[in-house]
Amino acid sequence: MMSIVAIVGRPNVGKSTFFNRLIQRREAITDAVSGVTRDRHYGKSDWNGKEFSLIDTGGYVKGSDDVFEAEIDKQVELAIDEADAIIFMVDVEAGLTGMDEEVATLLRKSKKPFFLAVNKVDSATRENDAVEFYSLGVEKYYTLSSINGSGTGELLDDLVKVLPEKEETEESELPRFAVVGRPNAGKSSFINTLIGEERYIVTDIAGTTRDSIDTRYNRFGFEFNLVDTAGIRRKTKVKEDLEFYSVMRSVRAIEHCDVMILIFDATRGFDGQVQNIFWLAHRNNKGVVILVNKWDLVEKETNSVKDYEKLIRRECEPFTDVPIVFISVLNKQRIYKAIETAVEVYKNRSKRIKTSKLNDVLLPIIQATPPPQYKGKYVKIKFITQLPTPHPTFAFFANLPQYVKDPYKRFLENKLRENFDFTGVPVTVYLRKK
Ligand code: GDP
Ligand code: GDP
Repeated sequence: MMSIVAIVGRPNVGKSTFFNRLIQRREAITDAVSGVTRDRHYGKSDWNGKEFSLIDTGGYVKGSDDVFEAEIDKQVELAIDEADAIIFMVDVEAGLTGMDEEVATLLRKSKKPFFLAVNKVDSATRENDAVEFYSLGVEKYYTLSSINGSGTGELLDDLVKVLPEKEETEESELPRFAVVGRPNAGKSSFINTLIGEERYIVTDIAGTTRDSIDTRYNRFGFEFNLVDTAGIRRKTKVKEDLEFYSVMRSVRAIEHCDVMILIFDATRGFDGQVQNIFWLAHRNNKGVVILVNKWDLVEKETNSVKDYEKLIRRECEPFTDVPIVFISVLNKQRIYKAIETAVEVYKNRSKRIKTSKLNDVLLPIIQATPPPQYKGKYVKIKFITQLPTPHPTFAFFANLPQYVKDPYKRFLENKLRENFDFTGVPVTVYLRKK
């Protein structure tokens, strides 16, 4: 499972500047490919070959210090709950403040490894100013400048040392589902309905991870693991009134699952926050099922399901090949369908297409509609194979792979989807040199 690193600290110390610096390189690439806007507070980074997820927990806590004061416990609690390591950022320009001391106290109590980053050390004089932060009770601090990047390497060297070694992916033959969504969408009700009446728990898998959150269920003849997000077994009970926290709480569960069951309230719509969660799963190459809940509350006219579906798909572009199920947890409507669909998506995600089949089906299509000429050169795709990755990834071998641009890659993806069912699953297309 991917390690999670959280950045905490008061507003304006430079958390987002630092965050952007760490994720910039990678995000720029993925953004260009998919063309979607990203949640700016969560991303992936790597250092010395170790990959980790980075959360800027200050995300929505912008503004004045008194706004922050109310949120400080929450922010740090979230980080302590969710992260494997914490970067605690302070600002040498502003100097030591009472709030810094408060954060330090919470962190020391938590026993989570944390690293004190003294930011805005842009010059040698400021290096000396940093000494006052020793009073936060740390053995070591890291001076850095998020703006020019100096000092970040030393911090990252030590940080990645405490991150758990990447485990062999726990090859469970059972699908792992995460039920995710905004507060009040109906997640707990859904889970209770799903597992409620019968003796559902087969075993409590201790798992190989320190705090594995899988529970194994058998329902409607389907066996699966449910990854906890609804706060069923949370150590702390932060009221998730800030959207940010509920989104960030989903990160680990999403990274840990095969298929995300995204549940939202039909009366509130598929809004920006729901979309953030949707893209979080997409970015992690997870399967997705969208459940439109509380359908009992929506007045129905002849076309409402179709129209509603269309609205959702428009927001999902270009990843529109996603199943959408209209449910009412209250009336226990289509709960079976929801799980059945999630199982199908799981199968699609683990689907392996034989190389001979791929080539038989796709090469004629490519021949009929070849990649456009580029700089007067013909691009010939000669051979296609599926790579042995957890989610469907295909390598197209060509004489001039660099000349195949995004629109044609999307064409290839669409053809893959049309001919082999990959509903609900991100598909990756690579062009390689033959
Ligand atoms: P956040 O609220 O903690 O996320 O802080 P921001 O990243 O938004 O930064 C707050 C302000 O500090 C911005 O004006 C940044 O340009 C500035 N800042 C961030 N890092 C540095 C740094 O290393 N040196 C200096 N001089 N300014 C910085
Ligand atoms: P969570 O915060 O996502 O876990 O949401 P809950 O499961 O606690 O549900 C929030 C509220 O929505 C509760 O009052 C539920 O009774 C209600 N609710 C859940 N599903 C439905 C539904 O299908 N129809 C209606 N009308 N209410 C629902």
